[in-house]
Amino acid sequence: MLTSTSMNITAPYQDTISLIGNTPLVRLEGPSAAAGCSIFGKCEFANPGASVKDRAALYIIRDAEERGELKPGGCVVEGTAGNTGIGIALVANARGYKTIIVMPDNQSREKMDTLRALGAELVLVPPTKFADCNHFVHTSRRLAEETEGAVWANQFDNTANRKAHLEGTAEELWEQLDGKIDGFTCAAGTGGTIAGVGMGLKEHDSKIVIALTDPHGAALFNYYAHGELKAEGSSVAEGIGQGRITGNLEGAPIDTQYRVSDEEGLDWVARLLREEGLCLGLSSGINVAGAVALGKQLVAEGRKDARVVTILCDTGFRYLSSLYNADWLRSKGLPVFDWLEGN
Ligand code: PMP
Repeated sequence: MLTSTSMNITAPYQDTISLIGNTPLVRLEGPSAAAGCSIFGKCEFANPGASVKDRAALYIIRDAEERGELKPGGCVVEGTAGNTGIGIALVANARGYKTIIVMPDNQSREKMDTLRALGAELVLVPPTKFADCNHFVHTSRRLAEETEGAVWANQFDNTANRKAHLEGTAEELWEQLDGKIDGFTCAAGTGGTIAGVGMGLKEHDSKIVIALTDPHGAALFNYYAHGELKAEGSSVAEGIGQGRITGNLEGAPIDTQYRVSDEEGLDWVARLLREEGLCLGLSSGINVAGAVALGKQLVAEGRKDARVVTILCDTGFRYLSSLYNADWLRSKGLPVFDWLEGN
């Protein structure tokens, strides 16, 4: 008898870099029932570095090599909330480069430990406004300038990032759903995913609705809704929430936008774990809430069999001491998952 694990077995990959991308797509039962149509999640936690950012890391490093900026034995420097750093460290190891990562010191413990374990040099800085010259992005640029043989990955404004999604993620989705996609939504950190997937899908079919799902504390919801970059509220979600139009967001084909609270995102994180056996980070929960909102909107417009896709950005194992820790959740004034109560 054929079992589910015998599906889609492919030929061996010829190198470890090729393990990045070509992630599975899965129909999510609870979100589909809530929306009244089909909601699919792109399993980016299945990348070698367990996040969507492996794709950007690979494209950025390849681009620097092709431009002749990154030479054998060189060094990649980046400012990152963590996942991009993990992707860069893995790709850099596979290509023989050093990695220096500058990160705000309020990111998850697991990300810091992981970066050190992978051999990256980690520079922690206090979180501050983008306008402050000590912001982690500016610090990483300066470090790259001062380091012999180093390139600055510059994930926010380097459009090699969104190209990874335009040529990779969007093409994979189109193939995986046989061209039957009605909507796509996700949140933006650098904006590489939403812009790249949006552009790639629109090239195939301009009627596919591209929606931004913004966490509280970010400025993009107001920008796309009213033309004004204005943040309201706050969020504990890592890796998402942008206050400016980055180079990657320029020209992103956003048709509509939703704003999702941490509570709503956490509710989906809890349901996906308890009901569907998926352990994810908060940005995935926020994305799923956005996908349900987009699905409902399409159904209300009469598209009863709509198919909506979102991104399952990273593994929840990266947040055991935060999202999955009762004391941490309480300290943030967030509801504690019921199975963690008493722990
Ligand atoms: N979720 C997580 C957990 C991330 O680390 C990131 C990357 N910053 C994103 C979502 C957003 O991806 P992008 O940078 O492509 O907008």
